[in-house]
Amino acid sequence: MAVREQDRAGAQEKESASETIVRTVDLVRIYRVGGDEVHALRGVNLAVKKGEFVALKGRSGSGKTTLLNLISGLDTPTSGKVYLFGRDLSEASERELLELRRRHIGFVFQSFALIPTFSAYENVDLMLRIGGFSRSERAKRVRECLELVGLLRWAGHRPYELSGGQQQRVAIARALANRPELIIADEPTGELDSVTGRQILELFRQIVDSEGVTLIMATHDPTVEDYADVIYELVDGQVVEARDMRTYLSALR
Ligand code: ADP
Ligand code: MG
Repeated sequence: MAVREQDRAGAQEKESASETIVRTVDLVRIYRVGGDEVHALRGVNLAVKKGEFVALKGRSGSGKTTLLNLISGLDTPTSGKVYLFGRDLSEASERELLELRRRHIGFVFQSFALIPTFSAYENVDLMLRIGGFSRSERAKRVRECLELVGLLRWAGHRPYELSGGQQQRVAIARALANRPELIIADEPTGELDSVTGRQILELFRQIVDSEGVTLIMATHDPTVEDYADVIYELVDGQVVEARDMRTYLSALR
C-alpha cells in the first residue's frame, strides 16, 4: 500500500472512531429479585455513529429498556462497558453522569411525561430554564423547536387540549430544546394509533436528517424499518441480528 493510501486509511479509521457516539462491549445486566436472577442482557455489543437513527427492536421483556438505561448511565451493568461520547461510563461519577444526561441527551418516553398544568410552550421552556439559558435564548429556541415539530400554533395549549400525537410532538420538542447530541426514545409510538405512530417516526427521521442529532429508539413497531438506518433485533437480552437498512435499500435499487 502506498504511504498516501495508508495515511488516508488511518485518517478514515480515526474519523469513524471519533464519530462513534455510543459503543457497548459485552454488556451484561442481571437483576437479582429475591433469590432469583433475571438475565436481562446477555452480552450486547453495538456501535452507534453520529447522525444515525438506530432502532432496538424486540418483544416486551427482550431487554430494550435495560439497554437504554445503561447507555444513558441511569443504570450500571453487571459486567461489560458502555462508552458514551467516547467516555467509559464506569469511570464517570454520579455527578458527571447527571451532567451528561442533562446537557447531552434528550429523552422521549412512551407516555409523553409532560407536565399537565404547563402549556406546550412552558413544557419545552422548562428544559431550557433547567439548562440555565437566558430569557431571550429560551424564547427563540422554544419557538424553533415547536416549529420543527409543527406545533407553533399550539404553543399555548396544555397537554389535555392536545391529541396523543401532538403531546408526543411536544415531548420531542422538549427533548431537542438544549441541542443534545443524542436522543433516546423508549417506545415513543407505543400509545399511539398506527397512523399517528407512523407520523411520529417520520418526524424523528426528518429531525435526524435536519438537525444532525443521533437517535436510539426502542420499539416493537414494525414500521420503524421504513425509517431507521440500523436495526438491532433483540431476543432474550441478545442481539440476534443487526441490519443496516441503508445497504439493504441500496442493494434493492
Ligand atoms: P423491554 O424494554 O424490551 O420490554 P426490559 O429491559 O424492560 O425489556 O426487561 C428485560 C427483562 O428484565 C425482563 O425479563 C424484565 O422483567 C426484567 N427487568 C427489567 N427491569 C427489572 C428490574 N428493575 N428488576 C427486575 N427485573 C427487571
Ligand atoms: Mg421497555
